[in-house]
Amino acid sequence: AKEQGKNKYKVFHTGMNIESYRTFLLQSDLRKAIERDELSVVYQPKVNIHTGKISSVEALVRWHHPKWGMIPPNEFIPLAEEIGLIVEIDKWVLQNACNQIAQWRNNELGSIRIAVNFSAQHFLQKNLVNEIIEQLAISNIDPNLLEIEITETALLGNEEFIISTLLKLKELKIHVSLDDFGTGYSSLNYLRVFPFSTVKIDKAFIQEITNQGEKSLAIVESIIHLANRLSINVVAEGVETLEQLKILKELQCNEYQGYHFCRPLPPEELFEFLEKYETI
Ligand code: C2E
Ligand code: CA
Ligand code: CA
Ligand code: CA
Repeated sequence: AKEQGKNKYKVFHTGMNIESYRTFLLQSDLRKAIERDELSVVYQPKVNIHTGKISSVEALVRWHHPKWGMIPPNEFIPLAEEIGLIVEIDKWVLQNACNQIAQWRNNELGSIRIAVNFSAQHFLQKNLVNEIIEQLAISNIDPNLLEIEITETALLGNEEFIISTLLKLKELKIHVSLDDFGTGYSSLNYLRVFPFSTVKIDKAFIQEITNQGEKSLAIVESIIHLANRLSINVVAEGVETLEQLKILKELQCNEYQGYHFCRPLPPEELFEFLEKYETI
């Protein structure tokens, strides 16, 4: 470790700014984060707005750096993508999530679906479907209990390959959601061409609907309307207030997710939350 420390300082020279030095250090530490057991997964429920029933929980990765504390995914995921490490991280999260489903089932929490975020690099891998099947078999869980969340960037590759992947997943009864809808290019055509079961409206829009965000409100309304017309499930993410929830309910949004209902929690805490919630 001392050896590595020395190397790091060798690479840092006065021409390098602090930001790129931080990136350099984080990337080299990230390569070891999995084997050093520094990653963990937290889970955040998605709830049906009309019935209050929990439809699934989203797995979100956390990195606890031994020296620097929590590094947010918005910082380290892009760094992991840059060095091609994201595929390994995603697979680690998938494995954890599958084992978690199996554990909850054995603890008689019942069958709860888990949604896992896949980066574009991971989703576009040739052997993706087989790897998922293998993981499901290893953890001995029903494919119907797995959901995959991808963003539009995963749709920019070979269209035929993507469609065939999505159809194979659908055939296996694995759910696939289009995440962060409304950001990026958000081609409406994606909803026509690709067989998604769900779209998730990005939290940037949701947070503005009660904040004089007339344009955001109009966009949210249109996405919900469109999804309903196309019979695609629609989830609002980042719901923080009752006021936002009321508007979403009026607009006929199906599901929501956000601090208003529950923050992302470590598995034990989520288990307690779910147990209490089910008995209310
Ligand atoms: P995302 O998939 O869009 O996840 C939603 C983010 O919003 C999460 O941030 C979640 O903690 C946060 N959030 C949930 N409810 C609220 C709310 O009411 N208000 C606010 N302000 N935020 C809320 P998080 O966990 O920091 O993750 C950030 C992003 O990192 C995720 O965005 C996703 O793109 C990426 N990410 C997280 N875990 C993974 C993973 O295992 N693999 C990949 N490829 N990406 C991941
Ligand atoms: Ca997500
Ligand atoms: Ca999202
Ligand atoms: Ca996002």
